[in-house]
Order: sequence, then C-alpha cells, then structure tokens
Amino acid sequence: MPVGAQKAIIDALQECLFCRIVRREIPAQIVHEDEQALVFKDITPQAPTHLLVIPKKHLGSLSASTDGDALLLGHLQRVACWIAESVKLSSFRLVTNNGKGAGQSVDHLHYHLLAGRPMSWPPG
Ligand code: AMP
Ligand code: ZN
Repeated sequence: MPVGAQKAIIDALQECLFCRIVRREIPAQIVHEDEQALVFKDITPQAPTHLLVIPKKHLGSLSASTDGDALLLGHLQRVACWIAESVKLSSFRLVTNNGKGAGQSVDHLHYHLLAGRPMSWPPG
C-alpha cells in the first residue's frame, strides 16, 4: 500500500469519534469495559436505556467485519446480554445501522442497546 494511503487510514483512525472515546480523548459515560469491548451511554438517548456497545478495534461498520471477526462479534452480543441481565431488562432491542442509508452516522461499528419503553416494528 502506498505511504499516502497508509497515512490516510491512520488519520481516519485518529479522528474516529469512537476510537477517541476508547482512547479516553473524549469523555463518555462508560458502563462496561473489557479487552475487546466498550459500552457507554448514548449522548442523545432514544429510550430510558440507550447504550452503545462497540468493539475497541476499529471496524467502520458491520459490513467491514470479516470472518476473522466472528468471535469479536459474538462477544459484543454476549456483552449486551450481560448488561441487560445486570440491570434486569426484561426486553430490549439490539440494533446496528449499517451504512448511511440505514441511518449510520458514526463510522465505527456500534450496537444500540435500547430498552425501557414500548418499541414499534418496523422501526422506520
Ligand atoms: P448511528 O446513527 O447508528 O451511527 O449512531 C450513532 C450514535 O452515536 C447516535 O445515537 C449518537 O447519539 C451517538 N453519539 C454521537 N456522539 C456521541 C458521543 N460523543 N458520546 C456518546 N454517544 C454519541
Ligand atoms: Zn473507530
């Protein structure tokens, strides 16, 4: 890969909002951290419980993952379950917006963990 392209990737990672939260360069209300995952409160909550479950590793979206990320993706879902169990959520929604057309605004994979109000379907 050309040096210019490498630099562009490094710059993008340095600017990524959620990578910056992982590095504690931007404050967040963190509720869980382990070697692979971080969970923090969404800054604009859409439900009484609205958490973001993210991999510490930068993945631009779910589509950017590979077969090699399968264990990591499973771990993120288990983390969501642990959180739900720990705060006794009887039901919750776990959703990722993949791509601009689906509403993705931050290009670092994240699962929204939403709970505490009635949820309609389809989500719109
Ligand atoms: P999405 O639109 O699916 O990409 O979701 C991005 C989410 O990140 C939105 O729900 C935002 O409210 C949330 N968000 C943006 N900036 C921050 C931040 N600094 N801390 C916590 N959540 C944030
Ligand atoms: Zn990132």
